[in-house]
Amino acid sequence: MKVRINQLLANKPVGETVTINGWVRTRRDTGAFSFVEVNDGSCLANLQIIADAALANYEHEIRLLATGSSIQVTGLLRESPGKGQDVELQASSLALLGPADPESYPLQKKRHSLEFLRELTHLRPRTNALGAVARVRSRLSFAVHRFFQERGFVQIHTPIITTSDCEGAGEMFQVITGRETSVGDHFFGRPAGLTVSGQLQAEAFALALGNVYTFGPTFRAENSNTSRHLAEFWMIEPEMAFCDLAGNRQLAEEMLRYLVNEALTSCSDDLLLFDQFIEKGLLKRLQGVVAQEFVQISYSEAVERLQKSGRQFTYPVSWGLDLQSEHERYLCEEVFACPLTVTDYPASLKPFYMRLNDDGKTVAAMDLLVPGIGEIVGGSQREERYDLLAGRMSAAGIDLDDYSWYLDLRRYGSAPHSGFGLGFERLVQFVTGMGNIREVIAFPRAPGYAPC
Ligand code: ATP
Ligand code: MN
Repeated sequence: MKVRINQLLANKPVGETVTINGWVRTRRDTGAFSFVEVNDGSCLANLQIIADAALANYEHEIRLLATGSSIQVTGLLRESPGKGQDVELQASSLALLGPADPESYPLQKKRHSLEFLRELTHLRPRTNALGAVARVRSRLSFAVHRFFQERGFVQIHTPIITTSDCEGAGEMFQVITGRETSVGDHFFGRPAGLTVSGQLQAEAFALALGNVYTFGPTFRAENSNTSRHLAEFWMIEPEMAFCDLAGNRQLAEEMLRYLVNEALTSCSDDLLLFDQFIEKGLLKRLQGVVAQEFVQISYSEAVERLQKSGRQFTYPVSWGLDLQSEHERYLCEEVFACPLTVTDYPASLKPFYMRLNDDGKTVAAMDLLVPGIGEIVGGSQREERYDLLAGRMSAAGIDLDDYSWYLDLRRYGSAPHSGFGLGFERLVQFVTGMGNIREVIAFPRAPGYAPC
């Protein structure tokens, strides 16, 4: 019977004959037999194989098995007398499927730095840390859909190629065919680009179906080589009709807790590894997030706190200036020491679609900030009043004719509605403790960097 190692270690069918496939992590020889540690990617743990000298290919194959080789083993599962594992597999046959030349295979037994592994995007999932990230990421992705589906949200596949450059001024990748011969000769009849957000299209569906979400790839041609930005990332964007900023914030907080809790309960072995080797205290921090009430303050209060802090910041703090990452992190790491939602930013700092507050100066915006990362969620209540929206669009230099479809949503059956965007890679960073966003996506894309 062919089994995965995670099932084997969970069920421990001692006395049964099973077949496993995987990649050799290490081999150790004694006089009469060899210990081979095999990993098949189903879990962090390896399975210990005992291969003794009686096997036909022992001398010329098994005793030469190198790290990285792929093998198939059939044998009897038995209790292990040794330390470090409950069970081991006594091989009755061990076939070498794909050798890995130890002279050139770059992943050897020792620990490699994450920077070194970044140059080996195609091989790094075979390491403990990057394999664990892939499993946690997959689990979280599944939980995102479960979270929304349990709450009756409808998933919308918003377009990847878009002709609405919502907030992406200068950040949008252009889509061209290479056959354009003159200006104005566009495949779609007008300029098009890769989406920077599915929000505008999600709004159309929220104002028909009530509660919707999108979860898809997003592209930003921003030239920021930071540990929190990618040129291609995945974003989760719920949009809710008949919902104000308070309801929006509640959903964002509930979702963050739900996803962190999911990782704690269904990826505990992998998180333990991160707690040991990536961020000491990770588990405690995540347990805190699930248990804690989050704090909420207004942008104005945040500015006041920062001004009174007596701290020297690199960037200036004054009402009307945007909060920089150093400010965000100071507030949620040092002042409150917990996730923090900042609301009601100056209208001048935020895009045209955010709802103007009664003070005429601020908008119903919210940013959810978390320790170690800063902004993880950005959202708002949307402007549902036609005149105010059209006014802000004109002021922003947007051609109203290009966006007449968006204005129609306010012309016919407009309703208060709200939504946000959660950067999926920032979430995976938050949950795994990875300092650089390039570790939490399989094949990262950033300025000057797109291996594979
Ligand atoms: P930041 O200020 O950090 O650049 P932003 O204000 O541009 O973020 P939004 O446009 O509000 O971000 O996007 C919503 C969410 O998407 C952010 O809160 C963040 O989690 C994520 N995000 C934004 N830009 C990137 C990026 N370049 N790479 C990865 N995630 C991103
Ligand atoms: Mn940005």
